[in-house]
Amino acid sequence: MIETTESMPFIVVGGGIGGLAAALALAQKGAYVRVLEQSPEFAEIGAGIQLGPNVFKMFERLNITDRVSKLAVYPETLVMLDSVTAEKVTEIGLLGTFRKRFKHPYALIHRADLHTALFETCQGLDRIALETSHQVTKIEDLNKGVTVHTAGSARYEAAAVIGADGLWSTMRDYVIGDGKPRPAGHICYRAVLPAHDMPEDLAIPSMVLWAGERTHLVHYPLRGGELYNLVAVFHSDRFEEGWDSYGDPEELHERFADKCEEVKTMLAKIEDWRMWVLCDREPVKEWSRGRVTLLGDAAHPMLQYLAQGACMAIEDAVVLADKLAEADDPAAAFVDYQNSRFFRTGRVQLTARLYGEFFHAAGTRRELRNIMLAARTPEEGLASVAWLYDGI
Ligand code: FAD
Repeated sequence: MIETTESMPFIVVGGGIGGLAAALALAQKGAYVRVLEQSPEFAEIGAGIQLGPNVFKMFERLNITDRVSKLAVYPETLVMLDSVTAEKVTEIGLLGTFRKRFKHPYALIHRADLHTALFETCQGLDRIALETSHQVTKIEDLNKGVTVHTAGSARYEAAAVIGADGLWSTMRDYVIGDGKPRPAGHICYRAVLPAHDMPEDLAIPSMVLWAGERTHLVHYPLRGGELYNLVAVFHSDRFEEGWDSYGDPEELHERFADKCEEVKTMLAKIEDWRMWVLCDREPVKEWSRGRVTLLGDAAHPMLQYLAQGACMAIEDAVVLADKLAEADDPAAAFVDYQNSRFFRTGRVQLTARLYGEFFHAAGTRRELRNIMLAARTPEEGLASVAWLYDGI
C-alpha cells in the first residue's frame, strides 16, 4: 500500500455514497483518508435506490452486509406494465431461482439508510477524517503529493486525491475538462408516499415499472413497506443544474394525461414532488491524471434506467482500494484502476440509454417491445442481466 499518514492521507472529494464507500475501502486496507464534503452535513436526499446482486458482493468486501440487509426491502418481482393499456408486459422473479443464480439478493433501500450505513461505518474507523462545509475549488499536483484548496481558503496536503464529487464534478474539470454533462432530454419527478396512501392494489412488494410512450413511472416499497418510492420520468427540453428543485405537478399531470387510470391515480396522490433533469456523459477511457482520479458519477455518470449508478460507484471503490493496496505509485494504481473499470461502467452507461428508449417506446416500437419481452422465457430474462448482476 502507498504510504499515507494523518497529515498526508488520501483525500476523497465528496461524501456521497461513492466517496464514503471509497473512504471505507481504503481505510480497511490500512490507509489514512480525509473526506471533504461541501454540504454542512453528510446526508442523502429522501428517495429510494435499487441494489442489484452485484453490489451485495461489494458489501461483503466492505463488511457492511448485515447493516445494509437490516435496512433493505427484498422485492418479490420486477414487474413491467404498459402504462397505456395497463397490461403486464413481463416479470422477473427475484427470490428462488434468481437468488440461486446470482448468489445475492435484489434489494430496495432508502438512500439515507444506505448513506448512513456507510457513514457510521466510516465514523467507527480512526483512520477516516470526515469534514463537512469544505467545498474543494482547486487542486495542485506537485508530483510528491497534491495540495487541495477549499472555498474557505483551507489547504490540505494529500498523498493522492479521489474525486467522488458527482455529476457536476469540479475534479473532472481538472482531470478531463470536457465541460458539462449531457442532458438526456428526460426529466424526473420523485416523491415518497406513506404506504397507507398507496392505492390498495398497487401497494405490492415488487419493483413496478409502468412503461409508456415518452414517459414511465416506477414505484417500490421502502423501510419494511412503510413508504413507497415514486419516480415519474418524461421527455422535456428543460435544463436545470442540480438535483433537488420543486417539481410542478401541473406539468407532470399534463405529460401523463393519456396514460391508464392506475398511473394517473398514483400520480394524483402526491402534491409535493422534487424534480431533476437527467444527464449523463459519453463514456471515456481515461479518468485519471497523475495523483488524481475520479470515481462514481464524476467518472462515468449514467442514466438511472439500469438502477446502477450507486452500485457502480461502490464497485469502483473496492477496485480502487485493491489497486492502491497493490502499488507503490498512486499514478500507476489509478491507471490500473480506470483500465479495470472503464469497459464495465461504459457498458452500463450505454445500455442505460437503450433501456430508456425501451421504457419510453411509442407507437409500433412500443408494441414490438411488448411482444419481444412477453415472449422471453424466465431463463432468457436472467441471462440478459447476467453480465451485470454476476458482478466483478
Ligand atoms: P453523488 O451522490 O452526487 O455525491 C457527490 C457528493 O460530492 C455530494 O455529497 C456533493 O455534495 C459532494 N460534492 C460535490 N462537489 C463537491 C466539491 N467541489 N467539494 C466537496 N464536495 C463536493 N443508482 C443505483 O445504483 N440504483 C438506483 O436505483 C438508482 N436510482 C437512481 C434514480 C435517479 C432518479 C437518479 C437520478 C439516479 C439514480 N441512481 C441509482 C444513481 C445514483 O444516485 C448515483 O449514481 C450515485 O448517487 C452517485 O454517487 P456519487 O457518490 O458518485 O455522487
